[in-house]
Amino acid sequence: MDTSWLVETHGDPLGVIQTLIKAAWERFELDTLMLSMNGSTKPHLINNPEQLDKVNPFKPLMTKNAAKYLPQVLEDFSIRRVGVVLRPCEMRALVEKTKREALPMDRVLTICVDCLGTYPMEDYQWRAERKGSPERLTWESLHFARQGGIAAYRFRSACQACRTPIGHGADVNIGVIGLPVRQKILLDTCDSETAITLGREEVTSEDDQSLIDQRNHIIAKLIQRGTHTRQRLADNLESILPRDIDALLHQFERCGECRECFDNCPLCAADYPTRDKQGMYAREDVKQWMISCAGCGMCEQACPNHFPLVTIFTQISQQLIDSIEPASQIH
Ligand code: SF4
Ligand code: SF4
Ligand code: SF4
Repeated sequence: MDTSWLVETHGDPLGVIQTLIKAAWERFELDTLMLSMNGSTKPHLINNPEQLDKVNPFKPLMTKNAAKYLPQVLEDFSIRRVGVVLRPCEMRALVEKTKREALPMDRVLTICVDCLGTYPMEDYQWRAERKGSPERLTWESLHFARQGGIAAYRFRSACQACRTPIGHGADVNIGVIGLPVRQKILLDTCDSETAITLGREEVTSEDDQSLIDQRNHIIAKLIQRGTHTRQRLADNLESILPRDIDALLHQFERCGECRECFDNCPLCAADYPTRDKQGMYAREDVKQWMISCAGCGMCEQACPNHFPLVTIFTQISQQLIDSIEPASQIH
């Protein structure tokens, strides 16, 4: 059985996605839904299904990575089952986290949504005021979803250089990029059981195949654009900024007790990366951290020195991945 299918939106893609999330709440018997798209300092927990029509996964603002907070939610055993709505970089971070931590993922329903990009906070506020409301910014993003989103140069640098903004790898993935969202969006589930539970529609017409082809074409262009942007940003790195792991370790030494990038990273815990008695961070820990970097940019957003951490970390991460013997790489 095909586990992905197009869903009619009748001019209201956001409403259809909210209805879908409500259906998921009921059918997967969720107790709470976590999402980071509300722009507050911590991801938001919805405990009442009546509030689900406030869910807006396309708000072009990201202040926290929900993957960092999921383990805390799972520590509450009165919550039997939690749904979490994630952007692709949050999903990537969660996948990396599960490699390192034994999380009870059988209690989690992951919903990953194509991302249309996010602005820096000040820019977001200015734009929302200029548009008259934050909701109009969401609609502006959705309006250009078919073309792959609006011009990305005002987005956070993490979004300009995004590896892939496509919802993928979750229990439920919601696609809007490259699609005429006022008519159709794409649902893609992890298995046929999940597809059936969400009421998979059986019809797939030739017209639908041309939409999928168009979506794949736009996705390929976005991935290519991200690759070019990462290269351009790396080329612009000033020579005083760390360009390899050893230079980065020295930089952290100079940063002293500031741990803002660690504290805001979904992959770091209070005691990770570890430090020796002289306060030096363990090379191997920092190496593993860099290799698993999800590219969400929460570190850069928090850095009081405004270091371009996404560019620095991405470059070092790529160096480290390239240096791993091909035979030892996991395929
Ligand atoms: S890094 Fe990518 S997935 Fe994350 S918010 Fe930016 S565009 Fe979206
Ligand atoms: S290092 Fe920065 S970009 Fe990478 S996952 Fe952590 S917060 Fe996100
Ligand atoms: S947030 Fe910036 S200043 Fe603080 S430790 Fe990280 S790189 Fe250094």
